[in-house]
Amino acid sequence: MDADENNYKLKNMRVESEEIIQSSQWHQLSTNEITRHLETDLETGLNESEVAKRQSHFGANELKAKPGTSPIVKFLQQFNQPLLYILLIAGAIKAIIGQWVNAWVIWGVTLINAIIGFIQESKAESAIAALASSVRTNATILRNGKKIQVSSTELVPGDIVLLASGDKVPADLRLVQTRNLQINESALTGESIAVEKNSQPVNPDIPLAERTNMAYAGSFVTFGTGSGIVVAIGEATETGRLSQLIEQGTSLKTPLTRKFDKFSRTLLYIILGIAALTFAVGLGYGNSWAEMFEAAVAFAVSAIPEGLPAVVTVTLAIGVSRMARRHAIVRKLPAVETLGGATVICSDKTGTLTENQMTVQGIYAGGQYYTVTGVGYAPSGEILLNEQQIDLNTSPVLVECLIAGLLCNDTRLEQKDEQWQVIGDPTEGALIAAANKVGINRSDLERENKRLDVIPFESDFQYMATLHQGNNNIRRRDAINRVSTDNTIYVKGSVEAILKRCQLQVDAEGEIIPVQANIVHQQVNAMAQQGLRVLAFAKKDVPSSQNSLDHVDIESNLIFLGLQGMIDPPRSEAIIAVQACQEAGIQVKMITGDHAVTAQAIAKRMGFNKNGEVMAFTGQQLAQMDNQQLKTAVEDGVVFARVAPEQKLRIVEALQSKGEIVAMTGDGVNDAPALKQADIGIAMGGAGTEVAKEASDMILTDDNFASIQAAVEEGRTVYRNLLKAIAFILPVNGGESMTILISVLFARVLPILSLQVLWLNMVNSIAMTVPLAFEPSSKRVMRQPPRNPRQPLLSGSLIKRIAVISVFNWILIFGMFEWIRQTTGNIDSSRTMAIQALVAGRVFYLLSISKLGAIIIDTIRGVKHNISDAYAIIIGIVATIVLQIIFSQWSLMNNLFSTAPLNLNQWLICIAAGLPMILVAALVNRFDPLD
Ligand code: ADP
Ligand code: MG
Repeated sequence: MDADENNYKLKNMRVESEEIIQSSQWHQLSTNEITRHLETDLETGLNESEVAKRQSHFGANELKAKPGTSPIVKFLQQFNQPLLYILLIAGAIKAIIGQWVNAWVIWGVTLINAIIGFIQESKAESAIAALASSVRTNATILRNGKKIQVSSTELVPGDIVLLASGDKVPADLRLVQTRNLQINESALTGESIAVEKNSQPVNPDIPLAERTNMAYAGSFVTFGTGSGIVVAIGEATETGRLSQLIEQGTSLKTPLTRKFDKFSRTLLYIILGIAALTFAVGLGYGNSWAEMFEAAVAFAVSAIPEGLPAVVTVTLAIGVSRMARRHAIVRKLPAVETLGGATVICSDKTGTLTENQMTVQGIYAGGQYYTVTGVGYAPSGEILLNEQQIDLNTSPVLVECLIAGLLCNDTRLEQKDEQWQVIGDPTEGALIAAANKVGINRSDLERENKRLDVIPFESDFQYMATLHQGNNNIRRRDAINRVSTDNTIYVKGSVEAILKRCQLQVDAEGEIIPVQANIVHQQVNAMAQQGLRVLAFAKKDVPSSQNSLDHVDIESNLIFLGLQGMIDPPRSEAIIAVQACQEAGIQVKMITGDHAVTAQAIAKRMGFNKNGEVMAFTGQQLAQMDNQQLKTAVEDGVVFARVAPEQKLRIVEALQSKGEIVAMTGDGVNDAPALKQADIGIAMGGAGTEVAKEASDMILTDDNFASIQAAVEEGRTVYRNLLKAIAFILPVNGGESMTILISVLFARVLPILSLQVLWLNMVNSIAMTVPLAFEPSSKRVMRQPPRNPRQPLLSGSLIKRIAVISVFNWILIFGMFEWIRQTTGNIDSSRTMAIQALVAGRVFYLLSISKLGAIIIDTIRGVKHNISDAYAIIIGIVATIVLQIIFSQWSLMNNLFSTAPLNLNQWLICIAAGLPMILVAALVNRFDPLD
């Protein structure tokens, strides 16, 4: 086919498809018509070259982000802070009374503040948005006759998509095959109950919500499986057309920023009140209007912590990026601070606490216990009976147990650079490896016993079943004397789920006998106590006429084949992380679908405990408890085993009713309600379903428990750093406003002018406080109990700290000003020296609360340190020094801010005056340690 002809075809197809897309009539066509239109094949899908052509033709399968709030509006919103109103108005009044330089400086500083705020906010927003979108959605599709996973952006019309519960539908699909498929379309229709789907054509004029043979992009598969042909991608999908759905806004609001907003509003009223008082009192003393207006403005400006909002945003944004570096992607900003206050972490076991590197170590079949050697997924190793090599011909039940594990299996093992890798579920990978060790291979079996149907594994059912053509009785024809039926069902799953469906079992000779449930349970217990994850296997012979499989087919009359037990070693970093959390006063609980004894054995091995005990409850026990008993159980229990996903919600609620702040992990489709209810819902980036990710506040890119602990640590550090910023900024406001108030009350010359205050509070504060957001976590942060969520931002000791430092700052400003004024009579240089002394004191104070100070002290003592932790503070201090030199030595600044150049002596005096801050800060650090 030459290129032109090809182009023509594509164009044609496009025109035709577009016509249909225009009228959205896919639902009324038969699947044959659609495969013809879209030139695709239901058995093999498209081939790579066709996909490449279509991709260049149709573009990527993604929705264009709707432009959020325009940058201009966002910029203007920077001025929408009560604290800034005052500045704008003050500037206006200064302009009216003719103080134009003053007015312009005030406006100029306000503008610079807005620009800085705007840049910080946009950077934070885009960083968070970029992180959230870096979590890509995958789709399972057929291409070249092979089942592969691709990023959903790569889909083209004509692709065949396979859906399973938990998937997000990646494009608009016309369904061609379904099994109990249910889809939640609430994003499109607002209807929150999932819709049953099938593949039958429906009436042309039926509304969208009733097109049962369509799956629309953006909806979620909540149950069952299915497959469909991509009929529309990107903007052409129904979701794409309802483009208001994809509002891309990232909110930077969190409970903490709201607290700040409220705090500044209250502060505003107090400040306005005192400013008015200052004004009135001053007038009473017979001062001029202009003078008293200056004093009132200076007071208002001095009392307002202008730099604080910028610092809060930067600190939160830095927290987000630090968490991302430690494999935790924050989807919702409030999680950053909630994490720091978490009191309970409920974690999955398999894959999160453990490696998910399964190796079968023991097999129980036909009443015999076999041991399996070798590690990993390589086919090297042996199956031994009493330490002796086995003869497969005399172990028919073992063989069939291995066969069941091979056939009832959706996973593949692949050898890549000498390494054997699992493509799929590690539990199933281990079963393949076990069979491969004795030379039983999948490909031979699948040729003889073609798979006719499957019920995939779901946590809710705890089993998987497959239906195969033919049976394997031939392999032990002499052993089993039975009428051979034609098809076979193999089932594997948890012991509880399988054994209750079995009436029979096969004994060592291959004879069918009644099932001996007690003996099996004893065996399971013995295996679980070693921490083995135990799977049970069963079969059922059915007539050859049966070629589809349903849950009812395996309700009863299964023949029990045996057990396979696999180890899944704990992740070594998770063991450390569990300890770290427990040390930090956070309870860690294991919630798993696995067997109670297995879970408890692993929990003990990992050092889980509550008051030295590892109490375990099963889902069944929890289900029988009333609310009161449940509350006690969730507090005392450490292991919750055989828990159905729905029960997680009850566990979260019970813990919350006890006042706990709960972080909960989840990956399955039914975990969504619990993830939403938890204070911090954590989804697995690797093994998690799209539904779980969508419901979560945070996603772990490495599915590792250690990353939760890292995120908690960073969350606590964010809070610490915010407290440091508050502790750093407020005393300056305190010192300044005290200075102005006292001066007015005692009718003295103001030691500091409103513009100078503005310089200190904006330029100087931002240069010195923003670096605090970069402070690393201290060791102490994980040695303290979680913060009480009801505890106010300003604790008693923090208020005391602020008061003490404020008074010292006041002494610096007021004392320096009065001293220099009385000795020299030069008001401008008195004010300049007062300011420089204050800043010198600030530098020492910053050292006392930052890592840099600790590093300097350690270095003096001879302890070596990694200085890179303190880069931000060093830059902040250097910038401060440069800015302060400009502030007093540059004539332009002298004119704008009424400052005076200082000589070396004067500089040294200012620095010396600031030095005692070291002692004051050391004293304060005693009763209010900030690290
Ligand atoms: P968890 O992830 O907490 O270990 P699961 O819900 O994955 O729990 O598994 C619960 C139980 O279901 C396991 O103990 C095992 O017996 C069974 N099981 C797990 N995976 C499979 C599978 N692929 N096929 C059949 N049964 C399985
Ligand atoms: Mg699992």
